[in-house]
Amino acid sequence: MGFNTTLLHAGVDKEGLGATLPPIYQNTAFEQASAADLEGIFNNRKPGFCYTRVGNPTISVFEKRITKIENGLASVAASSGMAALTNAFLNILTSGDEIISSASLYGGTIDLFHDFEAFGIKTNLVENNNWEQIEAAFTDRTRLVFAETIGNPGLDVTDVRKLADIAHAHGVPLIIDNTTSTPYLIKVLEHGADIVVNSSSKYVNGSSNSISGIITDGGKFKWDFEKFACLKDYKKYGPMCYIAKLRNGYYRNSGACLAPFAAYLNCLGLETLGLRMERHCKNASELASWLEDAYPEAKVNFPGLKSSPWHKIAEGELNNGYGAILTLRLGSKEQAFKFIDSLDIAYKVSNIGDSKTLVIHPASTISLHSTDAEKEAAGVYNDLIRVSVGIEDIEDLKADFDAAFKAINF
Ligand SMILES: *Cc1c(COP(=O)(O)O)cnc(C)c1O
Repeated sequence: MGFNTTLLHAGVDKEGLGATLPPIYQNTAFEQASAADLEGIFNNRKPGFCYTRVGNPTISVFEKRITKIENGLASVAASSGMAALTNAFLNILTSGDEIISSASLYGGTIDLFHDFEAFGIKTNLVENNNWEQIEAAFTDRTRLVFAETIGNPGLDVTDVRKLADIAHAHGVPLIIDNTTSTPYLIKVLEHGADIVVNSSSKYVNGSSNSISGIITDGGKFKWDFEKFACLKDYKKYGPMCYIAKLRNGYYRNSGACLAPFAAYLNCLGLETLGLRMERHCKNASELASWLEDAYPEAKVNFPGLKSSPWHKIAEGELNNGYGAILTLRLGSKEQAFKFIDSLDIAYKVSNIGDSKTLVIHPASTISLHSTDAEKEAAGVYNDLIRVSVGIEDIEDLKADFDAAFKAINF
């Protein structure tokens, strides 16, 4: 089945009453016939559900659908993208461990890595795709490598295969945040990544109606149970050991479960992910090319443009487009603010991946807590604005941007 057919048909439970959408199990607990049955479920010896914080049939449908389109082994859905990232990391980290991560990251993730310092977990931020620097960052305490497929908002494109090969040569997994590219553009597990995290609040949901995130394990990483001693108790689950530990451990205990209603809304959004991404990418490419021609001084950054230093990598690993986020530099923070305020169609909001066009000044908002050096390494400048290009009619978008440039006399 192709991508769109899979989105519409895979994981639909046609048994039972024949519901064509996942029923919303809006309940906390699931009764079992006997005390022994409950014991069986708690011990993972019997299939079924006991408590929504651990698992729920509606959430399970969403997890299965994402597993299918990411081509993974199993998924765990969380209350937000940040909850998913936190769970994905802490499932295998202990005090004293180290992370190697691309410095070109979503601001919230940089903040999270700072939070980890209080627990003795250190992160080495490296320049993305700088193989020498990445090699040099490994120590005997390195336990995972992390990057975003397309950095938000740096828009650098990670060479996933190469990064995976380096991580594996050092015996550690590669975790990829695929939020900005989505499995429509790349299934990173097929490019060597071991675990993929998506903030499904963005393109997967599509309408900005719920916060959520999801972790998908490819199930192929060869865990060294001496190095990853925390996984030892789950060795018996074979390729499912990472996910089994997560669901029975940190995910269950941190309580960052997804609400069943949000899982339902995500399932609705998923049906049109392919169709929306097609239009998002087409609009972004067209807007970026037009901006580069009409306003070259605004230094439009977009991986689909030949002027992007990441265009070659993008061309090699992304299918059907280059994503739908672009950035512009407008000379100063004041000009950037004035430009944003002059846009009429674009919503002034902090998220990405809505069907509508969205705009923000990252330096004063999502990257507020980063140091100046971290901001620069993440491609966040004081005169930069980020645009998440929506699926509106392209001529309307061009006219809106044109008017804003005129309003600031650019
Ligand atoms: C938004 C975003 C997150 C965080 O997701 P939430 O659902 O807002 O918690 C993580 N990574 C990237 C790349 C994002 O864009």
